[in-house]
Amino acid sequence: MQGLMMDMPLLISGLLQHADRHHADAEIVSKTVDGSVHRYTYRDAHARARKLAGALQRLGVQPGERIATLAWNSYRHFEIYYAVAGSGAVIHTINPRLFPDQITYIANHAEDQYVFFDLSFAPLLEKLAPLLKTVKGYVAMCAPEAMPKANIPSLLCYEALLEKEKADFQWPTFDERTAACLCYTSGTTGNPKGALYGHRSTMLHAFGAALPDGLNVSARDVVLPVVPMFHVNAWGLPYSCALVGAKMVFPGPHLDGRSVYQLFESEGVTMSAGVPTVWLALLNHMKENRLRFSTLKRTVIGGSACPPAMIKSFQDDYGVQVLHAWGMTEMSPLGTVGSFKAKHAKASKDARDALQYKQGRAIYGVDMRIVGEDGTELPWDGKAFGDLQVRGPWVIDSYFKGEGGNPLKTDEHGTKWFPTGDVATIDPDGIMQITDRSKDVIKSGGEWISSIDLECIAMAHPAIAEAAVIGIKHPKWDERPIVVAVKKPGQEVSKDELLKFYEGKIAKWWMPDDVVFVAELPHTATGKLSKLTLRQQFKDYRLDPR
Ligand code: ADP
Repeated sequence: MQGLMMDMPLLISGLLQHADRHHADAEIVSKTVDGSVHRYTYRDAHARARKLAGALQRLGVQPGERIATLAWNSYRHFEIYYAVAGSGAVIHTINPRLFPDQITYIANHAEDQYVFFDLSFAPLLEKLAPLLKTVKGYVAMCAPEAMPKANIPSLLCYEALLEKEKADFQWPTFDERTAACLCYTSGTTGNPKGALYGHRSTMLHAFGAALPDGLNVSARDVVLPVVPMFHVNAWGLPYSCALVGAKMVFPGPHLDGRSVYQLFESEGVTMSAGVPTVWLALLNHMKENRLRFSTLKRTVIGGSACPPAMIKSFQDDYGVQVLHAWGMTEMSPLGTVGSFKAKHAKASKDARDALQYKQGRAIYGVDMRIVGEDGTELPWDGKAFGDLQVRGPWVIDSYFKGEGGNPLKTDEHGTKWFPTGDVATIDPDGIMQITDRSKDVIKSGGEWISSIDLECIAMAHPAIAEAAVIGIKHPKWDERPIVVAVKKPGQEVSKDELLKFYEGKIAKWWMPDDVVFVAELPHTATGKLSKLTLRQQFKDYRLDPR
């Protein structure tokens, strides 16, 4: 027997329709490329998204075709999100920080038909356009008077396109499993691979992410996603915020500590989200200028392990709650978020702090497990660590165009799991802790050393701004850890002092064999430490064969 409820597909256009009808005056504020502030409402955004959908139709964009963006977080990018997916095409958000070769590769691989771009990327597109084989036109996200004098073929103007349209486009209804958005992994090894999200998966992720134990967003929030809309859809916030009617604030390209802080204060931001490197810059700015947050209540930190020192600083110095989150492109991206259960209310501050350093609990929609080398499931005792596998309706089944073969593993019951490439523990409360990426784990004398743990300790030292720990080949132990660290400006610490700082905090055999101070550490296009580059830089480095 079938249920007798309305059979309505979960479509992304429904989110913006809802926000228009039920949160018409909730604002969307953007700091634009030229530094000016643009302000309008969900109702305005919906009207303009409908105009853009009309313009796409006029350009001949067909369902399923890929429309790319090279753009910062802004209201126009938000409109493109909804207009493209809502009309049945696929939005492909390109990370402009990728190497030009990688951008060319993914735009060709995705067979992008149009590229919408912010003016900052006009010079890049001048170079790349001749290499992008499938692109029919480039749309500058600006008004006619701001059009770039760039040598870009088939150049169109965003506002001129909208000018011609009426806001009467009717969102089509189609199968909720239809593709909606395409994001490529940053491809630290081999070519980037495409994760193709559907309407249903994106909608379920938007529900899950909005939950109180997820990213916790509501109509009472003012949300500023620092995480770019080209980094796994800004962790789904442009969808979850429309779902609940939260005010949104977009920072454009202005991501330095000072600009972000000013926008927090001027717009009354209550909640934000980003990778640790961005928060490092913000916290430095706060400390140097002795500033306080007047409205910020919490921030989501993920994408790489958030150092405990950063969590402490946000919470103890500034009264801002940190939600430590873990996920990946292949998971839309949210997997776990660190929040307490009722039973933790009475726990000591130290115990609660320790829980927050972990990556958190699975939100409904994601199941996870850890397995040993032979594929058998390991216990949830908080000690055993193994390969972390996940499954759920917003977890990848296969890569776009089947790249790289079948990524899934099947267990003894025939259940499919996606191997994340992370190594983790899970405690009896289901709280997961990443100890490493499997390729970053340091194998010493047959045992594993967690590079993340060693990095977190270094970053707790008052003179250290950032640290990376990598394994160096060792004739006797296979690999030994070394710390590569950046000092805070004007601060001093010696190698021996830093090593002493480790004493009592780790088992003796985890003690790093060396410390190297550098001016800067290499980062990936998503702002993470690039251990791959670092390992290449240190490939000729030799340790004392003790
Ligand atoms: P990329 O591989 O393109 O950088 P993702 O942004 O999808 O792509 O990165 C996912 C990976 O980032 C995870 O598999 C994990 O290794 C790491 N990661 C994400 N969040 C955290 C976190 N909170 N703690 C530790 N590692 C994290």
